[in-house]
Amino acid sequence: MDYDVVVVGGGPVGCAVARDIAAAGFKVLVAEEHPKIGLPVRCAGLISSRTLELSRVSLRVIVHKLTGARLHAPGGEVLELYGKRVYALAIDRAAFDRDLATQAAAAGAEIACGMRVVDLEFVPGGVLVQLRQQGSRDKTIELTSRLIVGADGYRSLVARRLGVLPKGDKVPLYAAEVELPNYKGQIADIFIGNQVAPGWFGWVMPTGQGMARIGIGAPRRPHEYFKQLVNLHPDIFQGMRIIQHTSGYVPVYLQDKSYGPHSLLVGDAAGHVKPISGGGLFFGLKCAEICAATALAALDKNDFSEDFLSHYQRNWDMTIGEEIRCGLKHRQVFLNLTDKDMDQLVRFFNKPYWCKLILKYGDLDYHSKLAGRLADLPHWANLFIKNGFNFMAASTGFLNLTR
Ligand SMILES: Cc1cc2nc3c(=O)[nH]c(=O)nc-3n(C[C@H](O)[C@H](O)[C@H](O)COP(=O)(O)OP(=O)(O)OC[C@H]3O[C@@H](n4cnc5c(N)ncnc54)[C@H](O)[C@@H]3O)c2cc1C
Repeated sequence: MDYDVVVVGGGPVGCAVARDIAAAGFKVLVAEEHPKIGLPVRCAGLISSRTLELSRVSLRVIVHKLTGARLHAPGGEVLELYGKRVYALAIDRAAFDRDLATQAAAAGAEIACGMRVVDLEFVPGGVLVQLRQQGSRDKTIELTSRLIVGADGYRSLVARRLGVLPKGDKVPLYAAEVELPNYKGQIADIFIGNQVAPGWFGWVMPTGQGMARIGIGAPRRPHEYFKQLVNLHPDIFQGMRIIQHTSGYVPVYLQDKSYGPHSLLVGDAAGHVKPISGGGLFFGLKCAEICAATALAALDKNDFSEDFLSHYQRNWDMTIGEEIRCGLKHRQVFLNLTDKDMDQLVRFFNKPYWCKLILKYGDLDYHSKLAGRLADLPHWANLFIKNGFNFMAASTGFLNLTR
């Protein structure tokens, strides 16, 4: 075999896996289809400091610190959730990816940019990988590897070749980096509503020095909703100039198979994404560690059987599976809310007690922490968590009591 491991995809997750395997002395190749690591950017670049620590990326990628958010209900009520604590970091995502690729290269991995993996074939002892160099239509290179890691994003070729189909939705997002001279401070704005961003949300996030990142998700044509959001809020978007825009999909499901003979899937390719926010960097990097550990065990034992590699599925499920399941349940509740429900919910939580509680337990990476606190609360809150919001409409008497 030419390589011990070929990682398909030089995104942050693929590079983190490559770094950890190469650091143990194995021969690793990262094949990235784009000519430059980190470009084009398809991300709002919002992460927790925990994620930055996990990535081992330099603090220099931080461009701004956020201390909270204003949640805009469809009817206009605003839930103000901010304090002094830094809840999230806005990062330079391209620099973040480059740093991870540099870490992988420093550990001994080869990074091949402009190299698209176009096909895979299972052969005795490993996988035959066909690569095509960018710009050369017919020049393909073939090489062999004992193990292949599919870190090739939401359209994963490796997953398709393994016959692993996405187990649910992929939500289309549209986002832009903009100049927004009057938008200052450290607080993001989040917009919800079935007319505003059906099934998802819109966001505006200051990144300092008169710059901001804006985005929105919707089942179809998210850029149309983006235009609508901008038109609906001239107070925020006045003087806006788009510097660059991007689009992409976020996978929103729990993948029940992320391995095959001589192969593992990780990151977006395996659905390692938070179902409520679409953030994939924290779960992806967490699973990168587990993926690398599984690969190292397989390389040591020279066992690349499906049975052996299935430990990977169990291990990542034990780490983030519950969080994804919990997020999916809450997403389902959210999808069933009418605009009136959302208004009522925001009005209900818009009290100092609830705001304090949300600020105390809200966590960018572990959404279930806050849900767990609400579940510990009285009977009605428990019902909300378990059964969704509809019961609330039927218990207006109780709402009156809590006002
Ligand atoms: C608009 C938008 C905003 C987002 N905002 C956030 C955010 O604020 N915070 C957050 O945590 N997450 C965010 N996400 C999600 C986050 O970007 C992803 O979860 C993250 O990039 C996943 O990393 P990855 O390495 O698994 O995949 P990717 O970053 O998608 O990397 C996969 C790489 O594989 C390459 N590739 C694909 N196929 C092949 C092939 N056949 N051969 C060679 N190379 C190939 C691709 O070019 C790509 O570079 C956002 C996503 C979108 C679309």
